[in-house]
Amino acid sequence: MRDYVLAAIVAVAGGAALVFYPHDTLPPAPPGPEAPEPEQPAPEAPAPEEPAPEEPAPEAPAPEEPAPEEPAPEEPEAPEPEAPGPGPLDPDGDVFTYGAPGALPTFDYRNNVDMAGRSGSGWAGSGDLSSQYVFAPELAWPIDGAGYANTQVYRPGGNGAGVGGPGGSGECDARNFDYPFEDNFCEIRSSSTRSLFCPDDSTGHHVGQDIRPEVCTRNFDLEDRQMAVAVADGYILEIASMTVKLRGNDGRIYWYLHLEHWEDCDLSQLDEARCTASNLPSVCTRSALEVEPGDDVRAGDPIGRVSNWFGIGWRGGSCQRSMTTDHLHFEIRDTIDPDGSLTASSIPVPPYSSLVMSYLRHIGADEDDMPDWEEAQF
Ligand SMILES: [Zn+2]
Repeated sequence: MRDYVLAAIVAVAGGAALVFYPHDTLPPAPPGPEAPEPEQPAPEAPAPEEPAPEEPAPEAPAPEEPAPEEPAPEEPEAPEPEAPGPGPLDPDGDVFTYGAPGALPTFDYRNNVDMAGRSGSGWAGSGDLSSQYVFAPELAWPIDGAGYANTQVYRPGGNGAGVGGPGGSGECDARNFDYPFEDNFCEIRSSSTRSLFCPDDSTGHHVGQDIRPEVCTRNFDLEDRQMAVAVADGYILEIASMTVKLRGNDGRIYWYLHLEHWEDCDLSQLDEARCTASNLPSVCTRSALEVEPGDDVRAGDPIGRVSNWFGIGWRGGSCQRSMTTDHLHFEIRDTIDPDGSLTASSIPVPPYSSLVMSYLRHIGADEDDMPDWEEAQF
């Protein structure tokens, strides 16, 4: 158990932040050197090479999938950047590891989106629900270990989704692996995915929360990757080309994207016509996931490794792995709309406040220290 002292409640732009100082949590941070970055040309937008989304499993008792405003349910990540090459290397090899800079371990979070104009307005609440409404009050933290909730696109290594990226050294820039947590629901994207919760319907929206792992590894060794775990008791509803969907006993559906899906693949066996995710079973040794559709899970059970999986695509005359940044894209789907009324089918709801609460529990915060946010009553 980590002990901590609630050291301060400080005001930051846009809201208050609770700051915790656990005493024995993380190893000392090296001074966060910028890795020698192979500067790469701006990554091309990943080709939307995914096949048509697989059909949701029919057995669910309630309507599962959002309907009309979600034309591409399998592709909420489409505009995120490809990996800028192999990533930073440490002097010895293929793993670049560091602790976050400064006086870690300190956890804090922004109460609301404060993205300095980089990535849209976020969810500002509605007349009926505050911006900190907790949609999934019992949510377990989805990663075995620490993580950093922030944007993948509007930080170093991101491409800015056409709005303008921040520059910086690259995905493994130490600034990406630090607190505070930042909400990136409703972040502006160039995709057609939209959410009723995002006020500006002239753009595509990011309808989940992105969470980076503890360290930036940029390699494919499963043992180096953190495990994503079940956030609720339930069962595995569906596994699509880059999404694992967990149906919770609480009625909600939780989406995990970019887990490592396959092991030991020989993509050279796939010609251009067959270079699609549906052919991976024939050229890979096994699934890299820990679950199969229909599996019962308990909160905390392993689901799969946090990775950068973005399917496969035909590029430069060969079938290649497609990559996004190393992160878990996490969504909560529920039958509630911004007015607080029930919807006929589940839609993406803002996950950030639920994740902040779950992380505070994960690091051992006392109930007395939890923010007093309104919570869903079911
Ligand atoms: Zn995402």
